[in-house]
Amino acid sequence: MTHNRQGMGGRSKLMESLFNRNGRHENVREMYSNMLKFSHFAIAVKDANTDRFVDINDEFVTLFGYSRKEILDENIFLLSPEKNQQAAIQRKMVLLNGDIPKYTRTIKYCKKNNETFWGQTTYSVINADNAQYFMISIIDVTEQKNTEIQLSKSEKTYRQLFDHSLNTIGIYDIDNHCFIDCNKTFTQIYGYGKDEIHQLSALDLAWEEVDSSDPIYQQRYQENIDKLNRNETIRFESLHKSKIGKKIIVDVILIPFYETGKLYIKQVTTDITERIQSREKLQQKMTELEEVNVSLKKYIESNLQLENFAHITSHDLREPISTIISFSKILKKKLNDKLSPKEEKYVEFLITSGTKLKNMIDDILAFSKVNQDNVSFENIDTQELINGVLLDLNQMIDEKKAIINIDRYLPQSIIGHASYIYQLCQNLIKNAIKFSKSGENPVVSIHYNCLATHHQFCIEDNGIGIEKEFFDKIFLIFQKLNPNEKYKGSGIGLAVCKKVVELHEGKIWVESEVGEGTRFYFTIAKELEQ
Ligand code: ADP
Repeated sequence: MTHNRQGMGGRSKLMESLFNRNGRHENVREMYSNMLKFSHFAIAVKDANTDRFVDINDEFVTLFGYSRKEILDENIFLLSPEKNQQAAIQRKMVLLNGDIPKYTRTIKYCKKNNETFWGQTTYSVINADNAQYFMISIIDVTEQKNTEIQLSKSEKTYRQLFDHSLNTIGIYDIDNHCFIDCNKTFTQIYGYGKDEIHQLSALDLAWEEVDSSDPIYQQRYQENIDKLNRNETIRFESLHKSKIGKKIIVDVILIPFYETGKLYIKQVTTDITERIQSREKLQQKMTELEEVNVSLKKYIESNLQLENFAHITSHDLREPISTIISFSKILKKKLNDKLSPKEEKYVEFLITSGTKLKNMIDDILAFSKVNQDNVSFENIDTQELINGVLLDLNQMIDEKKAIINIDRYLPQSIIGHASYIYQLCQNLIKNAIKFSKSGENPVVSIHYNCLATHHQFCIEDNGIGIEKEFFDKIFLIFQKLNPNEKYKGSGIGLAVCKKVVELHEGKIWVESEVGEGTRFYFTIAKELEQ
């Protein structure tokens, strides 16, 4: 109750002293009441001496949620605690002394329901007789303040992004030819401190000395400025140098932006030194590859010519050789008892050498015949194919007492060029029997494996084996690893196999252990255009 009296007493004292000063009491009273009543601001009047509220308007009541009585009688403390009480007292003193007419601050207040809000608060002083009053007007600026806080938060985030970007970012003042801000990466890559960039012009970063009075440079500069003025972004690769003279290859992007009507540039550069170096290396490799490709093409072309040559010459040779063999045989028969043992040996030699040569020619012919031209694929019965091959090799199998095992799960049929596939299987099975260890029966196994897109076959033997270093070499034409006398052959068989397999979009390879045996694998595509 004491409060009440004091509160009301303060107000009437203020009224009195205000209205007494002027003769027209009623008008001024009305003016004062209207001012409080119709103001959009929350207004309060406080006794500067007692720091108690003496008057408040409806807006004030609404804003804080306390009743008029609560505020005026109980002098509720509405503020969030001032961080710096001393400064607050100081400000009020300055105001009371009349040094400044008013001051405005944005203060955090607390409503009755404990909600807080930001109020833009203007303090001014009313002097009435011997007393001084603070006139306090408050506008709720919470939304604005929150936006400001949000903005400063996002500014902080932006700054962090700016600083931690992997690219260098420099803000350039075109008029003064210097950077005005930059991120950390800029200082790290170029080696200039933040305090130095205000003296740093874009030309200082150029690797090569630039003469800014050079008309060509000036023209290019002007063109760029025009583009930026049209709000166009400029991008180019350039050579920059760091403070200590290190060469940096950079990708530069110039982005124009205006601030208070003035054009600035955001210069973003990416250090692409490593990228360019690897690009150059790649380029070099590409050139090398191109060279290899060209020589490979040449090789293939000349090889094709060679094959052609082989085909033609073999054809031409076949006939005279056959004639030589035939006539030698006739000669041997006719002169049978007239030949001395030495002469007979010569004729025999003529026949064997001629036959050997003829076989070789046949092999070369077979090799050169296998090519892409006019290949037609058909369904081949696998069992029939193997049976045919084994029948052909029957004599050899018998002689060597070879054991042949065939996988139970062979595919019923495959697609391929029948006679080529026949040749492929025959060559591999024949070799498996031929290169057997002396004194041991050859055991040959034919395995099958069904892959997603290919048939995979394997011809395994228990023969002499092949040294690892010859795994690739044996597929080249005329490559033989063993002495002629022991293992007859021309060294063409596997080269034919390779060609046949490649024609069927497959691969051929070998696994072997010397003295243990060999496994030849080959694949052929399941689907081939027939
Ligand atoms: P050829 O059998 O007419 O000599 P190939 O091209 O068929 O020619 O084989 C090349 C060489 O590879 C053979 O001379 C031989 O040294 C080796 N080779 C091929 N198949 C086998 C095998 N199954 N076991 C051991 N060596 C083999």
